[in-house]
Amino acid sequence: MAEAREPVTTLDTPIRLEYLFSAGIAQSKNLRGLAEGRFVGQRCPVCSKVYVPSRGSCPVDGVPTDEEVALGNTGTVTTFCVVNVPFAGQSIEIPYIVAQVLLDGADISFMGLIQEIPADQVRMGLRVEAVWVEPDQLGPSMASVKHFRPTGEPDAEYASYKDYT
Ligand SMILES: [Zn+2]
Repeated sequence: MAEAREPVTTLDTPIRLEYLFSAGIAQSKNLRGLAEGRFVGQRCPVCSKVYVPSRGSCPVDGVPTDEEVALGNTGTVTTFCVVNVPFAGQSIEIPYIVAQVLLDGADISFMGLIQEIPADQVRMGLRVEAVWVEPDQLGPSMASVKHFRPTGEPDAEYASYKDYT
């Protein structure tokens, strides 16, 4: 008589996919900036909007965004989500906050991890600053930014970021 066995419910299948990504001229400027611990954007010569990271052209005007713009280290949370779902490989204790951060002087937000504040205190308009990894760990990727943390400034007025939510 065959012994009773449990049904198979999960299966480990180690899969690896290697690929090369060509960043291009515009994104390379941004990535080199990240490797130096700073944000680099590009301005559209027609509408003056500053994109970070820039794809090399303005999506509205279709012209190259050649002008490089050094952006500061601070920004505003325009919207956010609370991550409450555990998943394999998770390295951050839940709940945690992933937010759209609009850097001062930029016209597009990007995703950033918010730390050093209880999750239930994060809000739209929260003023934050980037916390960078140690200088010897900086590299050409967003992994150079450990997270964003509150600056302690008063919240930004809704009108200042309402077009970016
Ligand atoms: Zn434009």
